[in-house]
Amino acid sequence: MDFIPVNEPLLNGNEKKYLCECIDTGWISSEGPFVKLFEERMSSSVHRKYGIAVSNGTAALEVAMQAIGIQEGDEVIMPAFTIISCAMAVTKLGGKPVLVDSDPHTWNMSVEEIEKKITHKTKAILAVHLYGLPVEMDKVLALAEQYNLKLVEDAAEMHGQTYKGKPCGSFGHISTFSFYPNKHVTTGEGGMVVTDDEELANRCRILRNLCFRQDVRYVHDEISDNYRFTNLQAAVGLAQLERLEEFVEKKRQIGKFYTENLFDVKGIQLPVPKTEYADNIYWVYGIVLNKEINCTNREITKLLASQGIGTRTFFWCMHEQPVYKKQGLFDGERYENGEYLARKGFYIPSGLALTTEQMKAVAATVRKVMREII
Ligand SMILES: *Cc1c(COP(=O)(O)O)cnc(C)c1O
Repeated sequence: MDFIPVNEPLLNGNEKKYLCECIDTGWISSEGPFVKLFEERMSSSVHRKYGIAVSNGTAALEVAMQAIGIQEGDEVIMPAFTIISCAMAVTKLGGKPVLVDSDPHTWNMSVEEIEKKITHKTKAILAVHLYGLPVEMDKVLALAEQYNLKLVEDAAEMHGQTYKGKPCGSFGHISTFSFYPNKHVTTGEGGMVVTDDEELANRCRILRNLCFRQDVRYVHDEISDNYRFTNLQAAVGLAQLERLEEFVEKKRQIGKFYTENLFDVKGIQLPVPKTEYADNIYWVYGIVLNKEINCTNREITKLLASQGIGTRTFFWCMHEQPVYKKQGLFDGERYENGEYLARKGFYIPSGLALTTEQMKAVAATVRKVMREII
């Protein structure tokens, strides 16, 4: 069998048709009509009033942090174990990420640790839903309310997921999405900020476009960036969004298949299929090596690659990032569960184009490789 890539998106709906419309009409820039339409469809799908499409999920976090007013000295509480986009959005503005460890079972931030990290400098909490299960939002919402903090929700991996029946992307002051090709809805590169707050929405629109002054063009009172999203991206996004339910169903089938075919393999921890508040959506199918396995995720991903299986290791914690260490940002801090996941976690092919034959081959190879290293 050919090499099985870690992710292959599915683009066989109306993507081509809508893209041709862009070409035929000449609308390819961020001024094109699909952008607004995609913003409306996407935001209403998560019960939000406003959607502001931006160039990627990292840009969405940057816009969100700037929009809520994070500046020099402000602290933002977030998980240690996440993608660097989360920390970068804060450090770029001169703010400080304040980290909490992960829950070893759900792999999400330990919400019990948030409260003791709150200081007079804390301005916001960034809740990041990881790998398919949402963060325990009730506790986060209560803390944000009690301490009068802004709440930003990174829902990049959560298209179509709910928390206690409410869509992810509908919590807190502002939520962000990514449309990178390994997310459930892709536009190649892309992202979106969604909110119910009109003032925040207007602010995001200005931040997306170089902070042009509203009265005179080419005059600027502040700096942001060019985070614009094109009509071409929106064309793909609209076609993808039409199939979201089907995509979520497929992801859950992939998750179910792998769980049924790997549950008895010794030495590995599989994703939690469900919690009290959500069924796993399996953004990707993660696997964590048990303590007794004398092997790192880097080693096992190399072994699997040599047998034709594409994988990725899990994220690397913020307090262990060389760039932040150099700045002395998290000196002496330890987050044991996050450190463990970063060294022992990886994910196997989970893209929407995955076939049953491929899934069978992946499961069989994981089983074989585990038997060899145990
Ligand atoms: C993918 C992802 C991002 C970044 O999105 P990009 O579009 O790749 O910039 C941010 N946060 C999380 C949790 C993600 O999974």
